[in-house]
Amino acid sequence: MYIIMLGAPGSGKGTIGAEICNEFGLKHVATGDIFRNEIKNQTELGKKASEYISQGKLVPDEITIAMVESNIKDLQGVLLDGFPRTTDQAEALKAFMKENNKELVAVINLNVPDEDIVKRTSSRVICSNKNCGASFNTVFMPPKVEGICDKCGSKLTKREDDNPDTIRERLQIYHDQTEPLIEYYKNEELLETIDIDIYIEDIKERTTAEAIKRINERNH
Ligand code: AMP
Repeated sequence: MYIIMLGAPGSGKGTIGAEICNEFGLKHVATGDIFRNEIKNQTELGKKASEYISQGKLVPDEITIAMVESNIKDLQGVLLDGFPRTTDQAEALKAFMKENNKELVAVINLNVPDEDIVKRTSSRVICSNKNCGASFNTVFMPPKVEGICDKCGSKLTKREDDNPDTIRERLQIYHDQTEPLIEYYKNEELLETIDIDIYIEDIKERTTAEAIKRINERNH
């Protein structure tokens, strides 16, 4: 079973995706996390990716597609978070899944207005432990102890690309290059859009429950 999380940067793909993975026993494959680890470890891939990521641009398709395919080829249950982000990536994924007999069950599209995205990403903090990667928000979803991850106790840090200029660039790229995938997956009859109001207190729980309900309905 394969699930895709679609949505603008900061829409909650990682947080909701992690809950969906727990529910269905899926492996969480987040391309942004993979790139950040490669950058931390100063690998060749990391060096290439960092040129683009630091400017809020997309890493070129040929690099990203090869990286994702090598990460998922031996996995049965996967939640893709942050991939695909272009129509070419979606086409490559479709061909890969056909070749490898894998089934895409649903594409969960988190719909958040741009002004809320800017507010939410500017106050996002993430766990510095690469094996945890939990995400919090100092305004909307604060950790129990300031600066410390609830899940593993490591320090929380800010992502370098979560500054207002880079966020605006990433949002623009989202609208230009990723948003067409909404229509693409609607045509494939796989799209499940969830409208998100970030000011509702239990938004994480409500969105997760709604996403799980929609996946279950499709899976039966
Ligand atoms: P994320 O953590 O998903 O917001 O990703 C952080 C950054 O990694 C993005 O702004 C891109 O520079 C890069 N990235 C992640 N996923 C992809 C992708 N599917 N295609 C190209 N670049 C990506």
